[in-house]
Amino acid sequence: MTVSYTKSINQTSNEHQSGKPDYEVVIIGAGISGMGTAIRLLAEKMDSFIILERASGVGGTWRDNQYPGIAVDISSFTYSFSFEQSPNWSRFFAPGKDLHNYTKRVGAKYGLYPYMRFNTSVSRAEFDSVNHVWKITLDEGEIMTARHIVSATGGLISPKDPDIKGLDTFEGEKLHTGRWDHNIDMKGKRVGVIGTGATAVQMVPELAKEVAHLDVYQRTPIWVLSKPDTDVPAWLKSALRNVPLLLSGLRVVTDLFSEAVMVISFLYYKQAPWIAQSAEKQGVQNMQKQLPNRQDLWDKLEPKYGFGCKRPTFSNEYFETYGRDYVDLITTPIDCIEKDGIRTKDGELHPIDILILATGYRVFEKGNLPSYEVIGTNGQDIGEFWEQERHQSYLGCTVPKYPNFYTILGPYSLLGTSYFKTVECNSLHAVRCIKEAKKRNATCVEVKPEVHQEYFEEIHKRQANTIFMNHNCGTANSYYFDVHGDAPMLRPSTTWEAAWRSRTFSLNNYSYTKAKVMA
Ligand code: NAP
Repeated sequence: MTVSYTKSINQTSNEHQSGKPDYEVVIIGAGISGMGTAIRLLAEKMDSFIILERASGVGGTWRDNQYPGIAVDISSFTYSFSFEQSPNWSRFFAPGKDLHNYTKRVGAKYGLYPYMRFNTSVSRAEFDSVNHVWKITLDEGEIMTARHIVSATGGLISPKDPDIKGLDTFEGEKLHTGRWDHNIDMKGKRVGVIGTGATAVQMVPELAKEVAHLDVYQRTPIWVLSKPDTDVPAWLKSALRNVPLLLSGLRVVTDLFSEAVMVISFLYYKQAPWIAQSAEKQGVQNMQKQLPNRQDLWDKLEPKYGFGCKRPTFSNEYFETYGRDYVDLITTPIDCIEKDGIRTKDGELHPIDILILATGYRVFEKGNLPSYEVIGTNGQDIGEFWEQERHQSYLGCTVPKYPNFYTILGPYSLLGTSYFKTVECNSLHAVRCIKEAKKRNATCVEVKPEVHQEYFEEIHKRQANTIFMNHNCGTANSYYFDVHGDAPMLRPSTTWEAAWRSRTFSLNNYSYTKAKVMA
């Protein structure tokens, strides 16, 4: 198929009046989510779609994040598409570059590149309730129309600078981990890192191999378990290549591990508190083993909130790094940033040459999920709706009054086992709806409000069992929580249940209508 890119505004409005959109489906984002959705559409023989991507290549998070030490912290045998398992990972927890290469290979193998338009940002999408099409505004005012939108923009895409006085006055090199600058040479420099989330845990040990002095500013400590990581030996790769059952078997084992640690321990806390408690014990042991006889550091590094209140991670080197005499863990709050260093509240100035912001991303702040305006039949932006009425979506994918619109990462959609599993569930959900609309000759498909409401109530009942409501999460400063005090990041369900529900939810949970102009 040859993709005809955006029409001129006039052409579009003519076609628009006929009710025929430019594309049946516009997928926004060419990361794992967008590619997973496109593969699903092609498998259903639907090829009237385009993938819009604001960057110049595929891979999303794995293209953007290139900080030293970047790697997955879910085993690669789990962190990949179920239909595209790889025996070739260099390590059990592959480096970020392997993941980026994997996305490029998947794009080529499944013939997705001809459907992609790079360097194209979406700023707004508005549903036309008469013609049942989404009018999508691109950069510089171009307009494109689509019957359906799959929003595949990911969650951790907008790096967040810390709200610290004087940040702009710093005269040395300054960079955010999400936008790494390989031209900056760290060798022999005094470096300051602000933040101790999952990114810093991977980066700090690598930086320590190069720099002359490292200050790490910790506001809230993080749970870090030991990482069962090693190179994948050549004999195992060969066995995995030759015996597919072995590859699937290994995936079952890594899935189970990830499900227990990253899903059941958080979401079924009331039913199985021992999992989180064992993880906490392991986290403390991991710290003490790496940093023997350092009660002074243990007191600072052990989280006071429950395991899972915020994203935990894995490392066999992070704590050990603080044992080096040129690495300082600074827990005195930051007062301000000055031209040549960071001043802490005790008045001390810590001089640095390079400032690294490991300060994370905007997540549930309005304007991030999604990163463009989405105006539904109620005339309201979906971000504003969520901000006013609480984050909500049916099975993590659709929202009443936003017909023909599907999110891969929406409220209560992330499956902690692996982001790939979220993508597989929600792309299936979206494609089932799109297919059914086609079958019923409908142009508008919308989740029934009563079905959505019932599900929303179910979610809140389930939330009561989670760690978020039961294990001292108030002090965690976790991006899992939103302004309402809800924790809408993770889907309160096992991965198996989510997969089963996306395959079997009743298609009658949606209403289907046909635009009059098409009648
Ligand atoms: P993050 O978890 O949001 O951590 C940001 C850090 O910056 C926190 O320690 C935070 O402290 C600190 N911070 C923010 N503003 C600050 C301020 N004004 N003053 C002092 N400290 C401040 O971000 P991240 O580490 O980039 O990780 C984001 C997510 O990326 C992870 O949770 C994970 O989901 C994902 N990730 C995944 C992998 C992987 O392998 N799959 C690897 C890395 C990251 P507070 O905690 O006190 O707010």
